[in-house]
Amino acid sequence: MTATPEFDLFVIGAGSGGVRAARIAASYGAKVAIAEEYRVGGTCVIRGCVPKKLMVYASRFRDEFEDASGFGWTLGAVPTFDWATLIANKDREIARLEGLYRATLSRNGVTLYESRAILEAPGRIALPATGECAQAKTILVATGARPALDKTIPGIEHAITSNEVFHLPKQPGRIVIVGGGYIAVEFACVFNGLGSAVTLVHRGDKLLRGFDDDLRDDLAVDMQKRGVELKLNAKLSGIAKTADGLTVTLTTGETLRCDTVMCATGRLPNTHGIGLEAAGVTLGANGRVVVDAQSCSSSPSVYAVGDVTDRVNLTPVAIREGHAFADSVYGSKPWVTDHEMIPSAVFSTPEIGTVGLSEQQAHAQYPQVDVYKTRFRPMKAVLAGRDERMLMKLVVDAATDRVLGCHVLGADAAEIVQMAAIAMRMGATKAEFDGTMALHPSAAEELVTLRDKWVAPRA
Ligand code: NDP
Repeated sequence: MTATPEFDLFVIGAGSGGVRAARIAASYGAKVAIAEEYRVGGTCVIRGCVPKKLMVYASRFRDEFEDASGFGWTLGAVPTFDWATLIANKDREIARLEGLYRATLSRNGVTLYESRAILEAPGRIALPATGECAQAKTILVATGARPALDKTIPGIEHAITSNEVFHLPKQPGRIVIVGGGYIAVEFACVFNGLGSAVTLVHRGDKLLRGFDDDLRDDLAVDMQKRGVELKLNAKLSGIAKTADGLTVTLTTGETLRCDTVMCATGRLPNTHGIGLEAAGVTLGANGRVVVDAQSCSSSPSVYAVGDVTDRVNLTPVAIREGHAFADSVYGSKPWVTDHEMIPSAVFSTPEIGTVGLSEQQAHAQYPQVDVYKTRFRPMKAVLAGRDERMLMKLVVDAATDRVLGCHVLGADAAEIVQMAAIAMRMGATKAEFDGTMALHPSAAEELVTLRDKWVAPRA
C-alpha cells in the first residue's frame, strides 16, 4: 500500500487564483499539489474572459467591413461568417493556453490531480476520480463560481448559460439573452455583431447596475441602434420547445420565438460538495467562503481566493489574492490585496471602461462633486459615416480636486481606462489630468482637455 502523500499546500481549483498561488508557493520551496476536476485554466481561460474576447474580436469585423468603404476600400464578395471556423480556432487557442498552464505547474514542481477534491477532515483530501488521498497542512479553496439558473422557471432546462455558449454546434439565428450584467450585455453584442437576431430581457429598467448612469444610458441607445432588441422591466417566466425552436414567455405576458435562450443572471460560488463543512469553514448566504483580508477562512488552515469568496469577481483580482496569499504564507512577505480603484471593462460594442466611483456613488459619499464629460464623434466614424458617439467622463471631489471616477464608452475604452487607473490610484487630481499634455490625434486626449464643469440642464 502506498503512503498518503503529504503536502504543505493543497490547492482546490486550477483557475487563475489557484494556479498563481500554487506556482508562487512552490517557488518558495513549499511542497504543493493542485486538484482540478475540469480543465486547467479555470473559467477565465476555458469558458470566460479569453474565449469571450476572441468572440468579441470576431463580432467586430462587421463594423470594419462596413466602415472600410468610407476610406476608399471596395470589398469583393459580401463578407460571410462561419461559426464552425471561429469555434474550432478558438478551441485550438484555448487548448494551447491550457497547455501553458499545465507546463507552468509542472515546471514549478506542483503535483496535479485531475479530480474533484473533497475535504474529509481537516487536512485530509479525497480525490474520487483517481481513488487517491492526500494530506496537507494548508488548503487553498480556489474553486470559482458557476452560472446561477432559476430552476423554478418552467422549461429552464432548455436554456444555456455561459458554460455552453462557447460550444454551440451552430450559430443561433435568433437568441434571447436573459440578464443585464456583464455577461448578458457582452454576448448580446457578440451575437448581434455576428448577425444573429438578439433580444435581451432584463428585470431592471437599465442595464449594468452599479455602473455610471451615463454609460448605462448611452450603451443601451447604441445597442438598440445596432439592432439589439431590449425588453426591460421583464423577467423570464417560461420556455417551451416548439417544432422550429423555442417559445419564451415573459412576466409582461409577451412571447418571443427563438432558437436559443441564454441565461446570464449572475454566478454562485462553487462550495457545494467539497467538504468545507467538515473542515469547519463558515459560508456566507450565497455559499461564498467568508474570508478575512489575508484570505483566511474561519478555519485557520483553510484559505480561499477568487470568485469563491465573492469579493470582486474579476480574474486579475483572483490572481492578486492568490499571489498575496502565497507571498504572505510561504514567502515571509505579507501583503493584502487592495480592493479599491479596480478598473473593469464590459466588452460590449461599443466598449465600456470604468474605474472608481460612478457619479451617483460619488454623490452618496462626497458633499460636493464636479462632473466633466464630453460626447463626441470619433475621427474614424466621420469618414465611415457611422452615427456613433464616444463618451468620456471624469467625476471629481470638489474639495480636494481628486479624480474619483473615470468612465469611457467607445472604441478601446478598456485600453484607455487601464492607463487612467494608474494615475487615479496615485491620487491624481483634475489639475494633474489637465497638466498632462494631450496626445494628438487620439480619443483619449479628451480626458486631459475636459475644461468645463457639466451643469445639469434645468428640468
Ligand atoms: P452580474 O452579476 O454582472 O449580472 C447579473 C444580472 O442578472 C444582473 O443584471 C441581475 O439583475 C440579473 N439577475 C440576477 N438574478 C436574476 C433573476 N433571478 N432573474 C432575472 N435577472 C436576474 O452577473 P454576470 O452573470 O453577468 O457575470 C458574473 C460576474 O462575472 C460579474 O459580476 C463579473 O464580475 C464577472 N464578469 C466580468 C467580465 C468582465 O470583466 N468583462 C465579463 C463577464 C463576467 P440586477 O441588476 O437587477 O441585479
